[in-house]
Amino acid sequence: MDKKINVNHIQQRIQQAAEKLKRPADSITLVAVSKTKPIDDIAAAYKMGIRHFGENRTQEFAEKVNKLSHLDNLQWHFIGQLQTRQSHLVAEYAHYFHAIDRIKIAKRLSKQLQKYQRELSIFIQINVSGEESKSGFDGSDWEHNFSQRETLENAILQISTLDNIHVCGLMTMAPWGAPKDTVHNIFQRLQKLSVWINDRHPTLQARELSMGMSDDFEIAIEEGATCVRVGSAIFGKREIEQIKR
Ligand SMILES: *Cc1c(COP(=O)(O)O)cnc(C)c1O
Repeated sequence: MDKKINVNHIQQRIQQAAEKLKRPADSITLVAVSKTKPIDDIAAAYKMGIRHFGENRTQEFAEKVNKLSHLDNLQWHFIGQLQTRQSHLVAEYAHYFHAIDRIKIAKRLSKQLQKYQRELSIFIQINVSGEESKSGFDGSDWEHNFSQRETLENAILQISTLDNIHVCGLMTMAPWGAPKDTVHNIFQRLQKLSVWINDRHPTLQARELSMGMSDDFEIAIEEGATCVRVGSAIFGKREIEQIKR
């Protein structure tokens, strides 16, 4: 078995993208999305210096966390949609959750986190593109639609008051196979929303932006991503396609 785990090349591309913008490369966190991939692949990437891993299925996630508990400083990112009755697994094991899409699940996580005496950093998922198949709070017209913007603002503020939860920023996904300028536009609009909300609420401190995947992480970095979630470009194609967009 000699599978190629493509860490160095991706790190180089992130560094080059950062240099172009005169941003320090360490202002961008690479989350290696290991969903569907075996434990050995994660261990191999860890050896190459990766510490942040992303999973999107609760059972698979919990199993991997337990099997790899001997590795120091692993940071687990749960990046998928979370079903209510599975939320305790994220509360127990995740360091970051990228896909908060309703207030109810945030409240539930907060209670469970208190029970486990843990803290969780979260990204609030915003559906900027307005695609129906995408989850997240509706931000498809936040610039012009006052009530949509107000709903978003209230949700973000309410979630940020919950115990044991730290809202670190916003997350979005670009439409599958969209032209480059559309992708730029989607990421730029999330970045502007982040500036708008943080300027209005300076104590919020939720300036991180989780955006960019294998096909578009360089565009995301150009638009201000602080966290990119890269799967297949590191670990190779997944046999089972399971991106829920
Ligand atoms: C699978 C997935 C990724 C990684 O996708 P790639 O195209 O393989 O890089 C990123 N974010 C989310 C939310 C995902 O589900």
